[in-house]
Amino acid sequence: MKLPNITILDETDKRLRKISDEVKFPLSKEDKKNIQDMITYLTMSQIPEYEEKYHLRAGMGLAYVQIGIPKRIFVIVEELEDETFRDYILINPKIISHSEEMIYVGEGEGCLSINREVEGIVPRYARVTMEAQDMEGNTFKIRVREDIAIAFQHELDHLNGILFIDHIDPKNPFKDANKYREI
Ligand code: ZN
Repeated sequence: MKLPNITILDETDKRLRKISDEVKFPLSKEDKKNIQDMITYLTMSQIPEYEEKYHLRAGMGLAYVQIGIPKRIFVIVEELEDETFRDYILINPKIISHSEEMIYVGEGEGCLSINREVEGIVPRYARVTMEAQDMEGNTFKIRVREDIAIAFQHELDHLNGILFIDHIDPKNPFKDANKYREI
């Protein structure tokens, strides 16, 4: 595999604070290529051999705005078992329903745009159903749970200019821990 030539914006970059625009179809060639590049990058980042060779940080999700293009697209690459992966591409995604139950990642969320350790609780719905469009513009619904549900919500936040650190109170990062389930 060849490492795609993409640059991921750092949290200090104001472009990450923009609200991304709705995507119109058909997608341009460039958009299709960039989506594929983001998937390849995330896949390679989760394979130890490449992670080491290219000094990558392992990541499972990227929003399009993180490579500087403010359009409502995100991708997730989930490792199913040893080096087999499932890709998700969501275009113009929105939450259409969610669980009452909320969860958080005990060891803290990570983000390829945040290059420092940030601890604290980010409450997320345990299960969400999103509606989105695929690369051809077909509308579909997808229901996800647990860590994938968290990833979906984390990436949807990016499309609205929100970073996970915004959800954490720096004075009391573990506030209300007992109200949510840790995963
Ligand atoms: Zn992120």
